[in-house]
Amino acid sequence: MHPFAYTKPADTRSALVAGARGGRYIAGGTTLVDLMRETVERPGTLVDISGLPLRDVRTGERRELRIGALARMSDVAAHPRVRSAYPVVSQALELSASAQLRNMATIGGNIMQRTRCTYFRDVSAACNKRQRGSGCAALEGYNRSHAILGTSDACVATHPSDLAVALAALDTVVHLLGPDGERSLTLTEFLLRPGSTPDREHDLRPGELITALEIPPHPQPLRSGYLKVRDRQSYEFALTSAAVVLHITGGVIRDARVAAGGVGTVPWRLTAVERRLVGARPSDRLWAQAAAEASHGARPLRHNGFKTELLERTVERQLRTVGGTP
Ligand code: SF4
Repeated sequence: MHPFAYTKPADTRSALVAGARGGRYIAGGTTLVDLMRETVERPGTLVDISGLPLRDVRTGERRELRIGALARMSDVAAHPRVRSAYPVVSQALELSASAQLRNMATIGGNIMQRTRCTYFRDVSAACNKRQRGSGCAALEGYNRSHAILGTSDACVATHPSDLAVALAALDTVVHLLGPDGERSLTLTEFLLRPGSTPDREHDLRPGELITALEIPPHPQPLRSGYLKVRDRQSYEFALTSAAVVLHITGGVIRDARVAAGGVGTVPWRLTAVERRLVGARPSDRLWAQAAAEASHGARPLRHNGFKTELLERTVERQLRTVGGTP
């Protein structure tokens, strides 16, 4: 591990000053410390923000749910309002990592976690995400776990977060605070596709902090759930996953939000699937027809062609689980 300086500011203002000077924010540290040990990341200064008052989970006046960036994954998964109103979020969190990691890792850190591409973590391999312009070892290497949607000639790595898939389906907003004040972006605006600059993974400006994630109010009643498909049933990243959020009244689907994980370079909203669903009546036939749209635009690599059909099956099963069959 490379030498680094460490500071733990007592308040948000001091943290922003340290961040603006080039310090790297750390809270749970469950990703960053690993990457520092592997010398993939070499921050000069760590700014420990774990003591800042950004841990609350609360309901606002519009019934929006605001989750502080430093709330622990395990606390959010167990929160009564999250469990009752957004089971898709609880389920995504409980299917992530291990219990020990969920007790350490924060919500803000979860959406900022870096890819599990093995070449990214192997400093002897070419990797445009680690070093822009150095090449991509995964393109000609072993790419079974890599993305089929949103890829570029520079990078085909998947975004690893389950939580981000659930939050993308819920149109979650990311609140930021930086040297120039506050601003807000949707999560899908915040997380960037690789394009020709895969080292730039998010729209976070120098010195900015994530302060909260906000799930906006949704029409009621709302049904939701998360399905994760992986090589083993514990402590493993998704091959495919599906977050499904449906608003059904009078036997008709009024609103549908579906996102996929394990297949995209960012959490992937399946808008073609959603269009098929809205205005239709739930049925096994509808679930199959809509799920057939899930892999629209997919570009499989040499070793991950199986993900196309697996994604469609994952989405179909989760549509049936959440939407039911009359
Ligand atoms: Fe690096 Fe992306 Fe290629 Fe993996 S897929 S080696 S992260 S550039």
